[in-house]
Amino acid sequence: MSKKVKDFGIEKTLRNLGIKDENKGTSVGGEYFASGKMIESFSPVDGELISKVETSAESDYDRVIETAQNAFKEFRLIPAPKRGELVRQLGQKLRQYKDDLGKLVSYEMGKSLQEGLGEVQEMIDICDFAVGLSRQLHGFTMHSERPGHRMYEQYHPLGIVGIITAFNFPVAVWSWNTALAWICGNVTIWKPSEKTPLCAIACQNIMIEVLKENNLPEGISSVLVADHEIGQKMVDDKRISLISFTGSTRVGRMVSSKVAERFGKSILELGGNNAIIISKDADLDMSIIGAVFGAVGTAGQRCTSTRRLIIHESVYDEVKNRLVKAYGQLKIGNPLDENNHVGPLIDRDAVEQYTKSIEKCKQEGGNFVVEGAVLEGEEYASGCYVKPCIAEVENSYEIVQYETFAPILYLIKYSTLEEAIATQNDVPQGLSSAIMTQNLREAELFLSHAGSDCGIANVNIGTSGAEIGGAFGGEKETGGGRESGSDVWKYYMRRQTNTINYTAQLPLAQGIKFDL
Ligand code: NAD
Repeated sequence: MSKKVKDFGIEKTLRNLGIKDENKGTSVGGEYFASGKMIESFSPVDGELISKVETSAESDYDRVIETAQNAFKEFRLIPAPKRGELVRQLGQKLRQYKDDLGKLVSYEMGKSLQEGLGEVQEMIDICDFAVGLSRQLHGFTMHSERPGHRMYEQYHPLGIVGIITAFNFPVAVWSWNTALAWICGNVTIWKPSEKTPLCAIACQNIMIEVLKENNLPEGISSVLVADHEIGQKMVDDKRISLISFTGSTRVGRMVSSKVAERFGKSILELGGNNAIIISKDADLDMSIIGAVFGAVGTAGQRCTSTRRLIIHESVYDEVKNRLVKAYGQLKIGNPLDENNHVGPLIDRDAVEQYTKSIEKCKQEGGNFVVEGAVLEGEEYASGCYVKPCIAEVENSYEIVQYETFAPILYLIKYSTLEEAIATQNDVPQGLSSAIMTQNLREAELFLSHAGSDCGIANVNIGTSGAEIGGAFGGEKETGGGRESGSDVWKYYMRRQTNTINYTAQLPLAQGIKFDL
Protein backbone atom coordinates (compact mmCIF):
# COMPACT_ATOMS: atom_id res chain seq x y z
CA MET A 1 0.00 0.00 0.00
CA SER A 2 1.42 3.39 -0.94
CA LYS A 3 2.36 5.64 1.94
CA LYS A 4 -0.19 8.25 0.87
CA VAL A 5 -3.05 5.76 0.97
CA LYS A 6 -1.81 4.17 4.21
CA ASP A 7 -2.52 7.49 5.90
CA PHE A 8 -6.22 6.94 5.23
CA GLY A 9 -6.37 3.96 7.60
CA ILE A 10 -7.19 1.21 5.12
CA GLU A 11 -5.36 -1.48 7.10
CA LYS A 12 -7.58 -0.89 10.12
CA THR A 13 -10.63 -0.90 7.90
CA LEU A 14 -9.71 -4.30 6.47
CA ARG A 15 -9.18 -5.66 9.97
CA ASN A 16 -12.50 -4.30 11.22
CA LEU A 17 -14.31 -5.93 8.30
CA GLY A 18 -12.63 -9.31 8.81
CA ILE A 19 -10.64 -9.23 5.55
CA LYS A 20 -7.53 -11.38 5.84
CA ASP A 21 -4.46 -11.56 3.59
CA GLU A 22 -6.00 -14.68 2.06
CA ASN A 23 -9.74 -15.32 2.14
CA LYS A 24 -12.00 -18.13 1.09
CA GLY A 25 -14.72 -17.00 -1.27
CA THR A 26 -17.62 -19.39 -0.65
CA SER A 27 -19.94 -19.10 2.32
CA VAL A 28 -23.34 -20.58 3.07
CA GLY A 29 -23.78 -18.66 6.26
CA GLY A 30 -21.23 -19.07 9.04
CA GLU A 31 -18.78 -21.29 7.28
CA TYR A 32 -16.32 -20.28 4.54
CA PHE A 33 -14.78 -22.74 2.11
CA ALA A 34 -13.44 -22.73 -1.44
CA SER A 35 -11.57 -24.91 -3.84
CA GLY A 36 -11.13 -22.67 -6.85
CA LYS A 37 -8.31 -20.57 -8.20
CA MET A 38 -6.93 -17.61 -6.30
CA ILE A 39 -7.85 -14.13 -7.47
CA GLU A 40 -6.04 -11.03 -6.35
CA SER A 41 -7.82 -7.78 -5.65
CA PHE A 42 -5.76 -4.76 -6.67
CA SER A 43 -6.87 -1.27 -5.76
CA PRO A 44 -7.31 1.09 -8.70
CA VAL A 45 -6.47 3.87 -6.24
CA ASP A 46 -2.77 3.03 -5.90
CA GLY A 47 -2.39 -0.23 -7.83
CA GLU A 48 -1.48 -2.16 -4.67
CA LEU A 49 -2.57 -5.73 -3.95
CA ILE A 50 -5.20 -5.47 -1.20
CA SER A 51 -5.79 -9.15 -0.54
CA LYS A 52 -6.41 -12.53 -2.18
CA VAL A 53 -9.55 -14.63 -2.42
CA GLU A 54 -9.82 -18.30 -3.26
CA THR A 55 -12.79 -18.42 -5.61
CA SER A 56 -15.68 -20.88 -5.64
CA ALA A 57 -15.19 -23.83 -7.92
CA GLU A 58 -17.85 -25.91 -9.64
CA SER A 59 -17.39 -28.55 -6.94
CA ASP A 60 -18.52 -26.04 -4.26
CA TYR A 61 -21.56 -25.04 -6.22
CA ASP A 62 -23.97 -27.90 -5.53
CA ARG A 63 -23.28 -27.73 -1.82
CA VAL A 64 -24.28 -24.08 -1.79
CA ILE A 65 -27.47 -24.73 -3.75
CA GLU A 66 -28.49 -27.70 -1.59
CA THR A 67 -27.87 -25.78 1.63
CA ALA A 68 -29.94 -22.89 0.28
CA GLN A 69 -32.77 -25.26 -0.71
CA ASN A 70 -32.87 -26.68 2.81
CA ALA A 71 -32.74 -23.24 4.39
CA PHE A 72 -35.65 -22.08 2.26
CA LYS A 73 -37.91 -24.81 3.66
CA GLU A 74 -37.38 -23.32 7.12
CA PHE A 75 -37.13 -19.65 6.25
CA ARG A 76 -40.42 -19.44 4.33
CA LEU A 77 -42.28 -20.53 7.47
CA ILE A 78 -41.03 -17.56 9.51
CA PRO A 79 -43.71 -14.82 9.41
CA ALA A 80 -42.83 -11.92 7.14
CA PRO A 81 -42.67 -9.28 9.93
CA LYS A 82 -40.23 -11.54 11.81
CA ARG A 83 -38.12 -11.78 8.68
CA GLY A 84 -38.38 -7.99 8.59
CA GLU A 85 -36.86 -7.93 12.07
CA LEU A 86 -33.78 -9.71 10.67
CA VAL A 87 -33.52 -7.07 7.96
CA ARG A 88 -33.80 -4.40 10.67
CA GLN A 89 -30.85 -5.97 12.44
CA LEU A 90 -28.88 -6.05 9.20
CA GLY A 91 -29.59 -2.31 8.82
CA GLN A 92 -28.30 -1.71 12.35
CA LYS A 93 -25.08 -3.61 11.63
CA LEU A 94 -24.61 -1.60 8.45
CA ARG A 95 -24.90 1.60 10.49
CA GLN A 96 -22.20 0.24 12.77
CA TYR A 97 -19.89 -0.68 9.87
CA LYS A 98 -20.79 2.25 7.60
CA ASP A 99 -17.45 4.07 7.80
CA ASP A 100 -15.38 0.95 7.24
CA LEU A 101 -17.53 -0.47 4.47
CA GLY A 102 -17.74 2.90 2.70
CA LYS A 103 -13.97 3.19 2.83
CA LEU A 104 -13.45 -0.32 1.47
CA VAL A 105 -15.86 0.41 -1.40
CA SER A 106 -13.83 3.52 -2.18
CA TYR A 107 -10.48 1.74 -2.02
CA GLU A 108 -11.42 -1.44 -3.87
CA MET A 109 -13.70 0.09 -6.51
CA GLY A 110 -12.24 3.61 -6.76
CA LYS A 111 -15.30 5.80 -6.21
CA SER A 112 -14.98 8.80 -3.89
CA LEU A 113 -15.22 8.19 -0.16
CA GLN A 114 -18.41 10.27 -0.07
CA GLU A 115 -19.94 8.06 -2.74
CA GLY A 116 -18.75 4.93 -0.94
CA LEU A 117 -20.45 6.10 2.24
CA GLY A 118 -23.50 7.08 0.20
CA GLU A 119 -23.65 3.56 -1.19
CA VAL A 120 -23.70 2.10 2.34
CA GLN A 121 -26.39 4.64 3.27
CA GLU A 122 -28.48 3.24 0.41
CA MET A 123 -28.09 -0.20 1.99
CA ILE A 124 -29.34 1.14 5.29
CA ASP A 125 -32.24 2.91 3.57
CA ILE A 126 -33.39 -0.22 1.73
CA CYS A 127 -33.30 -2.15 5.00
CA ASP A 128 -35.55 0.47 6.63
CA PHE A 129 -37.87 0.36 3.63
CA ALA A 130 -38.04 -3.43 3.67
CA VAL A 131 -38.78 -3.60 7.40
CA GLY A 132 -41.98 -1.57 6.92
CA LEU A 133 -42.84 -3.49 3.79
CA SER A 134 -42.62 -6.80 5.67
CA ARG A 135 -46.02 -5.93 7.18
CA GLN A 136 -47.59 -4.95 3.88
CA LEU A 137 -47.15 -7.82 1.43
CA HIS A 138 -50.75 -7.50 0.44
CA GLY A 139 -52.90 -8.92 -2.32
CA PHE A 140 -56.29 -7.77 -3.63
CA THR A 141 -59.63 -9.30 -2.78
CA MET A 142 -62.30 -9.18 -5.46
CA HIS A 143 -66.01 -10.05 -5.65
CA SER A 144 -66.82 -13.46 -7.03
CA GLU A 145 -69.57 -13.86 -9.65
CA ARG A 146 -70.67 -17.01 -7.79
CA PRO A 147 -72.78 -16.68 -4.63
CA GLY A 148 -71.16 -17.85 -1.40
CA HIS A 149 -67.66 -17.62 -2.84
CA ARG A 150 -64.73 -15.54 -1.81
CA MET A 151 -61.89 -14.71 -4.13
CA TYR A 152 -58.54 -13.13 -3.35
CA GLU A 153 -54.90 -13.01 -4.35
CA GLN A 154 -51.88 -13.79 -2.25
CA TYR A 155 -48.13 -13.80 -2.79
CA HIS A 156 -45.77 -16.62 -1.89
CA PRO A 157 -41.97 -16.74 -1.83
CA LEU A 158 -40.17 -18.02 -4.90
CA GLY A 159 -37.32 -20.04 -3.37
CA ILE A 160 -33.71 -19.25 -4.21
CA VAL A 161 -32.95 -15.79 -5.59
CA GLY A 162 -29.62 -15.61 -7.46
CA ILE A 163 -28.03 -12.18 -7.39
CA ILE A 164 -25.30 -11.43 -9.95
CA THR A 165 -23.82 -7.97 -9.58
CA ALA A 166 -21.57 -5.47 -11.36
CA PHE A 167 -18.39 -3.89 -10.00
CA ASN A 168 -19.60 -0.31 -9.87
CA PHE A 169 -22.08 -0.71 -7.02
CA PRO A 170 -20.26 -3.49 -5.21
CA VAL A 171 -22.43 -3.54 -2.09
CA ALA A 172 -25.70 -1.60 -2.60
CA VAL A 173 -27.17 -3.76 -5.35
CA TRP A 174 -26.74 -6.89 -3.25
CA SER A 175 -28.61 -5.25 -0.37
CA TRP A 176 -31.43 -3.96 -2.60
CA ASN A 177 -32.05 -7.53 -3.65
CA THR A 178 -31.38 -9.28 -0.37
CA ALA A 179 -33.55 -7.02 1.80
CA LEU A 180 -36.57 -7.50 -0.47
CA ALA A 181 -35.91 -11.17 -1.20
CA TRP A 182 -35.69 -11.89 2.53
CA ILE A 183 -38.87 -10.19 3.66
CA CYS A 184 -40.60 -12.05 0.84
CA GLY A 185 -39.35 -15.34 2.33
CA ASN A 186 -36.65 -16.21 -0.18
CA VAL A 187 -33.06 -17.22 0.39
CA THR A 188 -30.28 -15.62 -1.63
CA ILE A 189 -27.07 -16.65 -3.37
CA TRP A 190 -24.83 -13.78 -4.42
CA LYS A 191 -22.21 -13.87 -7.12
CA PRO A 192 -20.45 -10.51 -6.92
CA SER A 193 -18.20 -9.03 -9.58
CA GLU A 194 -14.78 -10.66 -9.55
CA LYS A 195 -13.40 -7.09 -9.70
CA THR A 196 -14.66 -6.29 -6.17
CA PRO A 197 -14.49 -9.57 -4.21
CA LEU A 198 -13.48 -8.02 -0.88
CA CYS A 199 -16.60 -5.86 -0.70
CA ALA A 200 -18.59 -9.10 -0.97
CA ILE A 201 -16.60 -10.85 1.77
CA ALA A 202 -17.08 -7.81 4.03
CA CYS A 203 -20.86 -7.85 3.46
CA GLN A 204 -21.02 -11.58 4.09
CA ASN A 205 -19.06 -11.16 7.33
CA ILE A 206 -21.62 -8.60 8.49
CA MET A 207 -24.44 -10.92 7.45
CA ILE A 208 -22.88 -13.84 9.31
CA GLU A 209 -23.13 -11.83 12.54
CA VAL A 210 -26.89 -11.41 11.97
CA LEU A 211 -27.38 -15.07 11.12
CA LYS A 212 -25.43 -16.26 14.16
CA GLU A 213 -27.10 -13.87 16.60
CA ASN A 214 -30.50 -15.17 15.46
CA ASN A 215 -29.55 -18.82 15.29
CA LEU A 216 -30.73 -19.02 11.71
CA PRO A 217 -29.98 -21.94 9.40
CA GLU A 218 -27.05 -21.70 7.03
CA GLY A 219 -27.97 -21.05 3.45
CA ILE A 220 -30.28 -18.08 3.94
CA SER A 221 -27.60 -15.81 2.56
CA SER A 222 -24.74 -17.35 0.61
CA VAL A 223 -21.93 -15.89 -1.42
CA LEU A 224 -19.97 -17.37 -4.30
CA VAL A 225 -16.95 -15.25 -5.14
CA ALA A 226 -16.21 -16.52 -8.61
CA ASP A 227 -15.83 -15.57 -12.21
CA HIS A 228 -18.43 -15.62 -14.97
CA GLU A 229 -18.46 -19.43 -15.25
CA ILE A 230 -20.25 -19.81 -11.91
CA GLY A 231 -22.53 -16.94 -12.97
CA GLN A 232 -23.37 -18.92 -16.09
CA LYS A 233 -24.12 -22.01 -14.00
CA MET A 234 -26.55 -20.00 -11.88
CA VAL A 235 -28.25 -18.63 -14.97
CA ASP A 236 -28.77 -22.18 -16.30
CA ASP A 237 -29.86 -23.66 -12.97
CA LYS A 238 -33.56 -24.51 -12.66
CA ARG A 239 -33.23 -24.61 -8.88
CA ILE A 240 -32.76 -20.82 -8.87
CA SER A 241 -36.21 -19.33 -9.33
CA LEU A 242 -35.19 -15.73 -9.96
CA ILE A 243 -31.97 -14.34 -11.37
CA SER A 244 -31.48 -10.69 -10.55
CA PHE A 245 -28.73 -9.60 -12.91
CA THR A 246 -26.98 -6.23 -12.87
CA GLY A 247 -24.33 -5.70 -15.50
CA SER A 248 -23.67 -4.91 -19.12
CA THR A 249 -26.23 -5.24 -21.88
CA ARG A 250 -23.88 -7.67 -23.66
CA VAL A 251 -24.00 -10.19 -20.80
CA GLY A 252 -27.59 -9.32 -19.84
CA ARG A 253 -28.85 -10.27 -23.30
CA MET A 254 -27.48 -13.78 -22.84
CA VAL A 255 -28.76 -14.03 -19.24
CA SER A 256 -32.22 -12.97 -20.38
CA SER A 257 -32.56 -15.63 -23.06
CA LYS A 258 -31.02 -18.44 -20.99
CA VAL A 259 -33.29 -17.81 -17.99
CA ALA A 260 -36.34 -17.47 -20.25
CA GLU A 261 -35.45 -20.77 -21.96
CA ARG A 262 -35.90 -22.60 -18.64
CA PHE A 263 -39.00 -20.50 -17.75
CA GLY A 264 -37.19 -18.88 -14.85
CA LYS A 265 -37.79 -15.30 -13.79
CA SER A 266 -35.25 -12.54 -14.24
CA ILE A 267 -34.73 -8.93 -13.23
CA LEU A 268 -32.35 -7.24 -15.65
CA GLU A 269 -30.57 -4.01 -14.76
CA LEU A 270 -28.31 -3.28 -17.70
CA GLY A 271 -26.47 -0.43 -19.37
CA GLY A 272 -27.65 3.15 -19.74
CA ASN A 273 -26.96 6.03 -22.12
CA ASN A 274 -28.45 8.86 -20.20
CA ALA A 275 -29.08 12.39 -21.39
CA ILE A 276 -29.97 15.73 -19.85
CA ILE A 277 -31.89 18.17 -22.02
CA ILE A 278 -30.87 21.74 -21.15
CA SER A 279 -33.65 23.98 -22.37
CA LYS A 280 -33.55 27.67 -23.22
CA ASP A 281 -35.57 28.12 -20.00
CA ALA A 282 -33.16 26.18 -17.78
CA ASP A 283 -31.52 27.52 -14.65
CA LEU A 284 -27.99 27.28 -16.04
CA ASP A 285 -26.24 27.29 -12.66
CA MET A 286 -28.19 24.19 -11.64
CA SER A 287 -27.72 22.65 -15.07
CA ILE A 288 -23.94 22.94 -14.96
CA ILE A 289 -23.70 21.37 -11.50
CA GLY A 290 -26.09 18.56 -12.47
CA ALA A 291 -24.28 17.88 -15.72
CA VAL A 292 -20.76 17.89 -14.25
CA PHE A 293 -21.67 15.70 -11.28
CA GLY A 294 -23.61 13.33 -13.55
CA ALA A 295 -20.76 13.02 -16.03
CA VAL A 296 -17.70 12.78 -13.77
CA GLY A 297 -19.15 11.32 -10.54
CA THR A 298 -17.82 7.77 -9.99
CA ALA A 299 -15.52 8.66 -12.94
CA GLY A 300 -18.47 8.11 -15.29
CA GLN A 301 -18.97 4.54 -14.07
CA ARG A 302 -22.57 4.73 -12.94
CA CYS A 303 -25.29 3.09 -14.98
CA THR A 304 -27.04 6.47 -14.57
CA SER A 305 -24.00 8.62 -15.47
CA THR A 306 -24.78 11.55 -17.75
CA ARG A 307 -23.32 10.67 -21.14
CA ARG A 308 -25.13 13.15 -23.39
CA LEU A 309 -26.16 16.79 -23.00
CA ILE A 310 -28.80 17.91 -25.47
CA ILE A 311 -28.61 21.70 -25.34
CA HIS A 312 -30.87 24.36 -26.84
CA GLU A 313 -29.09 26.35 -29.56
CA SER A 314 -29.71 29.68 -27.80
CA VAL A 315 -27.74 28.62 -24.70
CA TYR A 316 -25.40 26.11 -26.33
CA ASP A 317 -22.27 28.25 -26.41
CA GLU A 318 -22.74 29.53 -22.88
CA VAL A 319 -23.26 26.00 -21.51
CA LYS A 320 -20.25 24.73 -23.44
CA ASN A 321 -17.99 27.52 -22.18
CA ARG A 322 -19.10 27.09 -18.59
CA LEU A 323 -18.55 23.34 -18.78
CA VAL A 324 -15.05 23.82 -20.15
CA LYS A 325 -14.32 26.16 -17.24
CA ALA A 326 -15.80 23.75 -14.69
CA TYR A 327 -13.80 20.82 -16.10
CA GLY A 328 -10.66 22.96 -15.76
CA GLN A 329 -11.28 23.08 -12.00
CA LEU A 330 -11.76 19.33 -11.47
CA LYS A 331 -9.28 17.71 -9.12
CA ILE A 332 -8.39 14.16 -10.11
CA GLY A 333 -6.70 11.81 -7.66
CA ASN A 334 -6.98 9.54 -4.64
CA PRO A 335 -10.74 9.17 -4.01
CA LEU A 336 -10.19 8.74 -0.27
CA ASP A 337 -9.00 12.34 -0.21
CA GLU A 338 -12.17 14.44 -0.04
CA ASN A 339 -10.48 17.32 -1.86
CA ASN A 340 -10.56 15.32 -5.09
CA HIS A 341 -13.61 15.23 -7.37
CA VAL A 342 -12.67 12.34 -9.66
CA GLY A 343 -11.05 9.01 -8.80
CA PRO A 344 -9.71 6.23 -11.03
CA LEU A 345 -11.44 3.86 -13.44
CA ILE A 346 -11.81 0.30 -12.18
CA ASP A 347 -8.83 -1.15 -14.09
CA ARG A 348 -6.53 -0.76 -17.07
CA ASP A 349 -8.99 -2.52 -19.39
CA ALA A 350 -11.47 0.26 -18.64
CA VAL A 351 -8.76 2.82 -19.43
CA GLU A 352 -8.22 1.10 -22.79
CA GLN A 353 -11.95 1.27 -23.53
CA TYR A 354 -11.89 4.99 -22.69
CA THR A 355 -8.95 5.62 -25.02
CA LYS A 356 -10.49 3.59 -27.84
CA SER A 357 -13.81 5.41 -27.50
CA ILE A 358 -12.09 8.79 -27.76
CA GLU A 359 -10.25 7.65 -30.90
CA LYS A 360 -13.46 6.31 -32.43
CA CYS A 361 -15.30 9.52 -31.59
CA LYS A 362 -12.60 11.56 -33.33
CA GLN A 363 -12.73 9.27 -36.38
CA GLU A 364 -16.48 9.83 -36.61
CA GLY A 365 -16.01 13.60 -36.54
CA GLY A 366 -16.27 14.43 -32.81
CA ASN A 367 -14.77 17.78 -31.80
CA PHE A 368 -13.17 17.61 -28.36
CA VAL A 369 -13.58 20.88 -26.46
CA VAL A 370 -11.97 19.29 -23.40
CA GLU A 371 -9.36 16.72 -24.41
CA GLY A 372 -9.05 13.38 -22.65
CA ALA A 373 -5.80 11.86 -21.40
CA VAL A 374 -4.48 8.99 -19.34
CA LEU A 375 -2.75 10.57 -16.36
CA GLU A 376 0.81 9.75 -15.38
CA GLY A 377 2.98 10.42 -12.36
CA GLU A 378 3.38 9.11 -8.83
CA GLU A 379 -0.17 9.87 -7.74
CA TYR A 380 -1.50 8.06 -10.80
CA ALA A 381 0.81 5.03 -10.57
CA SER A 382 -2.08 2.53 -10.78
CA GLY A 383 -2.49 3.55 -14.43
CA CYS A 384 -6.26 3.87 -13.93
CA TYR A 385 -6.68 7.66 -13.77
CA VAL A 386 -8.08 9.48 -16.79
CA LYS A 387 -9.10 13.04 -17.53
CA PRO A 388 -12.82 13.64 -17.96
CA CYS A 389 -13.41 15.01 -21.45
CA ILE A 390 -16.13 16.65 -23.55
CA ALA A 391 -16.84 16.27 -27.27
CA GLU A 392 -19.28 17.94 -29.66
CA VAL A 393 -20.96 15.14 -31.62
CA GLU A 394 -23.99 14.01 -33.60
CA ASN A 395 -26.34 11.66 -31.73
CA SER A 396 -26.18 9.24 -34.67
CA TYR A 397 -22.44 8.47 -34.24
CA GLU A 398 -21.93 4.79 -33.49
CA ILE A 399 -19.85 5.64 -30.42
CA VAL A 400 -22.55 7.93 -29.03
CA GLN A 401 -25.07 5.10 -29.28
CA TYR A 402 -22.78 2.91 -27.16
CA GLU A 403 -22.28 3.05 -23.39
CA THR A 404 -18.60 3.72 -22.70
CA PHE A 405 -18.15 3.27 -18.97
CA ALA A 406 -15.88 6.31 -18.51
CA PRO A 407 -16.13 10.10 -18.11
CA ILE A 408 -16.72 11.11 -21.73
CA LEU A 409 -19.50 13.67 -22.14
CA TYR A 410 -21.11 14.33 -25.53
CA LEU A 411 -22.69 17.69 -26.46
CA ILE A 412 -25.53 17.81 -28.97
CA LYS A 413 -27.41 20.96 -30.15
CA TYR A 414 -31.19 21.20 -30.67
CA SER A 415 -33.71 23.78 -31.78
CA THR A 416 -37.18 22.41 -30.80
CA LEU A 417 -38.11 20.42 -27.71
CA GLU A 418 -39.76 17.72 -29.83
CA GLU A 419 -36.43 17.29 -31.62
CA ALA A 420 -34.57 17.17 -28.29
CA ILE A 421 -36.89 14.47 -26.93
CA ALA A 422 -36.56 12.45 -30.14
CA THR A 423 -32.75 12.70 -29.84
CA GLN A 424 -32.82 11.73 -26.17
CA ASN A 425 -34.89 8.64 -27.03
CA ASP A 426 -32.87 7.73 -30.11
CA VAL A 427 -30.41 5.32 -28.43
CA PRO A 428 -30.80 1.59 -27.71
CA GLN A 429 -30.75 2.07 -23.93
CA GLY A 430 -33.54 3.52 -21.76
CA LEU A 431 -32.42 3.97 -18.16
CA SER A 432 -32.34 7.57 -16.92
CA SER A 433 -33.18 10.96 -18.42
CA ALA A 434 -33.67 14.54 -17.31
CA ILE A 435 -34.75 17.97 -18.45
CA MET A 436 -33.55 21.21 -16.95
CA THR A 437 -36.26 23.81 -17.48
CA GLN A 438 -38.35 26.30 -15.54
CA ASN A 439 -41.09 26.08 -18.15
CA LEU A 440 -44.04 23.97 -16.97
CA ARG A 441 -45.14 23.13 -20.51
CA GLU A 442 -41.73 21.78 -21.40
CA ALA A 443 -41.47 19.77 -18.19
CA GLU A 444 -44.90 18.20 -18.66
CA LEU A 445 -44.26 17.35 -22.32
CA PHE A 446 -41.02 15.64 -21.33
CA LEU A 447 -42.87 13.53 -18.74
CA SER A 448 -45.86 12.78 -21.01
CA HIS A 449 -46.49 9.78 -23.30
CA ALA A 450 -44.77 11.80 -26.01
CA GLY A 451 -41.78 12.42 -23.76
CA SER A 452 -38.88 10.41 -22.39
CA ASP A 453 -38.99 6.66 -23.02
CA CYS A 454 -36.74 5.86 -20.03
CA GLY A 455 -37.51 4.10 -16.76
CA ILE A 456 -36.43 7.25 -14.91
CA ALA A 457 -37.36 10.78 -16.05
CA ASN A 458 -36.42 13.77 -13.89
CA VAL A 459 -37.09 17.49 -13.98
CA ASN A 460 -34.42 19.86 -12.68
CA ILE A 461 -32.36 16.97 -11.29
CA GLY A 462 -29.57 15.22 -13.16
CA THR A 463 -29.69 11.64 -14.38
CA SER A 464 -27.55 10.02 -11.73
CA GLY A 465 -28.50 8.90 -8.27
CA ALA A 466 -31.92 7.66 -7.23
CA GLU A 467 -33.81 7.29 -3.99
CA ILE A 468 -34.60 3.78 -2.86
CA GLY A 469 -38.32 4.59 -2.40
CA GLY A 470 -38.97 4.53 -6.16
CA ALA A 471 -38.74 1.58 -8.54
CA PHE A 472 -35.31 1.64 -10.18
CA GLY A 473 -34.62 0.38 -13.69
CA GLY A 474 -34.93 1.08 -17.37
CA GLU A 475 -36.49 0.15 -20.69
CA LYS A 476 -35.22 -1.18 -24.03
CA GLU A 477 -31.65 -2.55 -23.81
CA THR A 478 -31.49 -1.56 -20.14
CA GLY A 479 -33.53 -4.73 -19.69
CA GLY A 480 -36.94 -3.69 -18.33
CA GLY A 481 -36.23 -4.80 -14.75
CA ARG A 482 -37.04 -2.89 -11.60
CA GLU A 483 -35.33 -3.04 -8.22
CA SER A 484 -35.62 -1.31 -4.88
CA GLY A 485 -38.79 0.60 -3.87
CA SER A 486 -42.46 0.99 -4.81
CA ASP A 487 -44.13 -2.39 -5.50
CA VAL A 488 -40.96 -4.05 -6.80
CA TRP A 489 -41.28 -6.69 -4.07
CA LYS A 490 -43.81 -8.44 -6.32
CA TYR A 491 -40.93 -9.54 -8.59
CA TYR A 492 -39.62 -11.60 -5.68
CA MET A 493 -42.85 -13.53 -5.12
CA ARG A 494 -45.22 -15.77 -7.01
CA ARG A 495 -48.80 -14.67 -7.34
CA GLN A 496 -51.69 -16.96 -6.55
CA THR A 497 -55.44 -16.47 -7.01
CA ASN A 498 -57.61 -18.30 -4.46
CA THR A 499 -61.33 -18.98 -4.63
CA ILE A 500 -63.17 -20.45 -1.64
CA ASN A 501 -66.70 -21.84 -1.85
CA TYR A 502 -68.46 -21.70 1.52
CA THR A 503 -71.81 -23.08 0.30
CA ALA A 504 -73.11 -26.64 -0.17
CA GLN A 505 -73.45 -26.16 -3.96
CA LEU A 506 -70.85 -26.27 -6.70
CA PRO A 507 -71.83 -23.55 -9.20
CA LEU A 508 -69.42 -23.27 -12.14
CA ALA A 509 -68.03 -19.99 -13.42
CA GLN A 510 -69.48 -18.35 -16.57
CA GLY A 511 -72.88 -19.99 -15.82
CA ILE A 512 -71.76 -23.38 -17.20
CA LYS A 513 -74.08 -26.29 -16.25
CA PHE A 514 -72.65 -29.77 -15.64
CA ASP A 515 -75.48 -31.92 -14.21
CA LEU A 516 -74.87 -35.61 -13.55
P1 NAD B 1 -20.46 -7.21 -16.61
O1 NAD B 1 -21.64 -7.47 -17.46
O2 NAD B 1 -19.12 -7.38 -17.22
O3 NAD B 1 -20.46 -8.16 -15.32
C1 NAD B 1 -21.55 -8.17 -14.42
C2 NAD B 1 -21.60 -9.48 -13.66
O4 NAD B 1 -21.92 -10.52 -14.58
C3 NAD B 1 -20.27 -9.89 -13.02
O5 NAD B 1 -20.52 -10.44 -11.74
C4 NAD B 1 -19.74 -10.95 -13.98
O6 NAD B 1 -18.89 -11.90 -13.35
C5 NAD B 1 -21.03 -11.61 -14.39
N1 NAD B 1 -20.97 -12.35 -15.67
C6 NAD B 1 -20.15 -12.13 -16.74
N2 NAD B 1 -20.41 -13.04 -17.71
C7 NAD B 1 -21.41 -13.83 -17.25
C8 NAD B 1 -22.11 -14.93 -17.79
N3 NAD B 1 -21.82 -15.41 -19.00
N4 NAD B 1 -23.10 -15.49 -17.05
C9 NAD B 1 -23.41 -15.00 -15.83
N5 NAD B 1 -22.77 -13.98 -15.25
C10 NAD B 1 -21.78 -13.38 -15.96
O7 NAD B 1 -20.63 -5.72 -16.03
P2 NAD B 1 -19.62 -4.81 -15.20
O8 NAD B 1 -18.52 -4.34 -16.10
O9 NAD B 1 -19.29 -5.45 -13.92
O10 NAD B 1 -20.58 -3.57 -14.83
C11 NAD B 1 -20.80 -2.47 -15.68
C12 NAD B 1 -22.13 -2.60 -16.40
O11 NAD B 1 -23.20 -2.79 -15.47
C13 NAD B 1 -22.48 -1.31 -17.15
O12 NAD B 1 -23.02 -1.65 -18.39
C14 NAD B 1 -23.53 -0.67 -16.26
O13 NAD B 1 -24.40 0.22 -16.94
C15 NAD B 1 -24.26 -1.87 -15.73
N6 NAD B 1 -24.97 -1.55 -14.51
C16 NAD B 1 -26.33 -1.38 -14.59
C17 NAD B 1 -27.05 -1.02 -13.46
C18 NAD B 1 -28.53 -0.80 -13.53
O14 NAD B 1 -29.14 -0.75 -12.47
N7 NAD B 1 -29.13 -0.69 -14.70
C19 NAD B 1 -26.38 -0.84 -12.25
C20 NAD B 1 -25.01 -1.02 -12.19
C21 NAD B 1 -24.31 -1.39 -13.34
